[in-house]
Amino acid sequence: MKTEIHPEYGPVTLQCACGNSFQTQSTIKGSIRVDVCSSCHPFFTGKQKVMDIAGRIDRFNKKFVSGAAPAPVKKPKAPEQAFGAKLSIREKLQAAKDKAAIQNP
Ligand SMILES: [Zn+2]
Repeated sequence: MKTEIHPEYGPVTLQCACGNSFQTQSTIKGSIRVDVCSSCHPFFTGKQKVMDIAGRIDRFNKKFVSGAAPAPVKKPKAPEQAFGAKLSIREKLQAAKDKAAIQNP
């Protein structure tokens, strides 16, 4: 093992939002705070629990479940419009001349 390149690995206290805490090993110094641990996660407890941290369920219900109309789907731009932004001035001028030539033969 090469010296002075490895971080120190030692005991650290892990604290969960449910109040549970236990000792583990880590290169992190101090304590670790987590939102969910093995004593409160639904997989381990067997009880279904809503784990909504950032209001995602509320946003989902507001958007889809409340009967509101779905967000309008954007129509893709016509190929000419989408492509027109990438044309140079010379190409646009040539296209206008061609269009005029078609309309006034
Ligand atoms: Zn927990």
